[in-house]
Formats: sequence, structure tokens, C-alpha cells
Amino acid sequence: MTTTRDTDQDQLLDVAARVMFPTYRPALVIGHGRGRHVTSTAGVEYLDLTGGNAVSSVGNAHPQVTAAITAQAEGIVHTSNLVCNDQAVLLAAQLCERTPFGRVFFCNSGSEANEALLKLARRYFHETGDPRTQVIATTTGFHGRTYGALSLTGRAKHRIGSGPLVDGITHVRINDLDEITAAISRRTAAVIVETIQAEAGVIEADPHYLHGLRRLCDEHGALLLFDEVQTGVCRTGPFLSFETLGVVPDACSIAKGIAAGLPMGVVLAREFLAPGLPGGSHASTFGGNPVAAAAARAVLEIIDRDNLPAHVASIGAVLSGKLRVLAADPALPTVAARGTGLLQGLQLRPDIDVQRLLARLRDSGVLLSVVGGTVLRFTPALNLTENELDQGIATLHAVLHHHTEGAL
Ligand SMILES: *Cc1c(COP(=O)(O)O)cnc(C)c1O
Repeated sequence: MTTTRDTDQDQLLDVAARVMFPTYRPALVIGHGRGRHVTSTAGVEYLDLTGGNAVSSVGNAHPQVTAAITAQAEGIVHTSNLVCNDQAVLLAAQLCERTPFGRVFFCNSGSEANEALLKLARRYFHETGDPRTQVIATTTGFHGRTYGALSLTGRAKHRIGSGPLVDGITHVRINDLDEITAAISRRTAAVIVETIQAEAGVIEADPHYLHGLRRLCDEHGALLLFDEVQTGVCRTGPFLSFETLGVVPDACSIAKGIAAGLPMGVVLAREFLAPGLPGGSHASTFGGNPVAAAAARAVLEIIDRDNLPAHVASIGAVLSGKLRVLAADPALPTVAARGTGLLQGLQLRPDIDVQRLLARLRDSGVLLSVVGGTVLRFTPALNLTENELDQGIATLHAVLHHHTEGAL
């Protein structure tokens, strides 16, 4: 651990504000992390209930992940795609073994995985002599910031000033089967949805709706694609969130939690889609990086050894119970609680100054984020303990209670 001075953090934030694009508004400079906690360069420790935005799936500095990364770094850090590496091949095989999918493509982020899904859908129909280009997504969906992924993203807030976007994408309201029934046709290549729209405010797709999408896609010969970038890797309990919903998509994307914080995006597709990305049709220089793949293999081992699906289900039920109590408390500025496993949201009254609330939580040692304008999002590491959860919720309760004194 490095020793730090209180001034380090302020100086670094000043530099950041001067030399980095103002796309983010960081309030902290983090120097290290252990488990579910992170520590600023000013030496202050925080309980991270954002889990590094759903990325730090097994917590910070997990010894098994650190060992896997270190060992691989001592072996080889990069191989080109002219060859391949053992870690990526073994990871691909393991992902196929634990899912209904038979084909894997590696890249480096959620956006990039969704770009590949979009290309896969159109190219598959091109290759099979039934050219289709229309893709249907949702008005409240979030699929990333690159042009293809941004074009799939329905929320205007993300699209402002970036047009023209990719052609041929139609947006429909989620959970409205009538609207998509009117939009889908024999020209539709694919429908893409998240099973829980986290960025939109933790909006859950109704299982009945997802079953309806499967039926509509089958009727029209279109592909059903799930963006599991945030919901995947046991975030809701099962390895992929659709496993408990009884609907299997034709392909899905995962990213955030898969490599414990190292950049990795993955497309998982059913075997019949293999001709959709023929030789030379797609590539990623860093995709399948052996260090990231070694970290991901360690994550899979930890998921199995610690039975994280069962842990997420039980700790998620505890979190859900606590958020429902906060939501129902008339003394608090709360409206509703929703979500599954360790992807949950607590909706606040619209008059609450959420940035001030987040700052007060931070000052009290807890990191949370806001999605959909007024919804506190909980995406802690999957191995969050009940003690940590109790402490985090107690802090949140105290800060929310403050609003009665006009502090928020
Ligand atoms: C975070 C996220 C993305 C974008 O992932 P990046 O790695 O930031 O490109 C796409 N879809 C969903 C559902 C996400 O949560």
C-alpha cells in the first residue's frame, strides 16, 4: 500500500478537470481496493455498492484473480489473431459448456459486443440468401456508445447531437407486445432487448413479453438477441439472466462482470449462427486477450466454488426486502423498489437533488449511482456479505432521513 497525502486527491482531480474531456464528473481518485471496498488516494475507505458499475463481479483484488492475472502476465500478455492462445480457447469452450450457445466471439467492451451482434444479425441473413436489415430495439434500451450500439440505444439523452446514426433500426416501447407485433415482419433481421433495463432506471422486461418476443421472432424468422452486458455473469442469480425466465435467445452479449474488471466483451451465439461471421468478416485486435481470458476463467471458477448464483439469490432477496421497507416508509423521499438479485433500484421522489444525495452518501462512506434520473442503482460485487449490506443500507437510511430537515 502506498502512503498518501490528503492533497493528492484534490490535485489529481484538478489535473483531471484540466486535461481530460469533461465527459465524467469524478469526485474521488481511487488508489486501491479490497473486496467490496475501495480507498481513495486521500486514504478514505468506501463501501462500493456500485461494484465499479457492475464490473467488479468478485470484488477488488480477489486473490485468485490476482494470481491468474500475474501468472498469465509472466507467460504472455498478448497474442495476435493470426494465432490463438490457450486461455481464450479454454474460456470459449467453458462458456459454451455452461450456456445453450455453441459459438463465441471475443472483444473488449459491452458496446463492441453489441456491435458484433448487430453485424452478426445482418450478415447471417446476407450469407443465407435472405437479405434482411431491419433491427428492432426499444425506446428505453441502452446498448452502448459506439455508433452501432448507440443506434440501438433508444434513449434520446444518449443520442443528442450524434446523428446521423446507423440506418434500419426501429424503436418500440418495452413490454408492449402490440407495438412490436405491428413493427416486426419478414424484413426483420433481429430484435434486441435487455431483460432488465438498468440504465433506464432498472425497468424489468415482463417474462410474458419476452416469451411473446420469442414467439414473434420464430413466426417471422427473425433472431432474438439479448443484451446481457449488465444482467449476465450471475448479476441476477443465474449465469445468464434468461435462464430463470424460460426464454432462450439466439445470441447474447456479455461484458461487465466477466473478467473481474479487465476489459472483455463476448458474443455468445447458437450453433446455427456460425455462418453469420465467416472468415475475415469481423475481428478485434485485442479480443481474446490472454490476461483478460485468464481473469475470466478465474471468475468462472469462483462462481462455481462459492456458488455465487445461490448467494446472489439469497443476498438479493435480503436487499430486495430492505429496499421495499425503505420504499414504503412515509418518512423517506422514496417511491418504489424493483429489480432482481444484485441488480436493483430504489426510486426516489422527483424533487430530491440526487447529486447532493450521492455526495452525502459518499461523505458517509458509501458509493451508489443514479440511473433513469431518480433511481438509486445497486450493483455491488456478487460476493457482498450480509454485514456489508446491513451497513450500506443503514447509512442510506440515515442519509435519506436527513431530507426531512431539508438537507436534500
Ligand atoms: C454498460 C452497458 C453497455 C455498454 O458497455 P461498455 O463496456 O461501456 O461499452 C451496453 N449494454 C448494457 C446493458 C450495459 O449495461
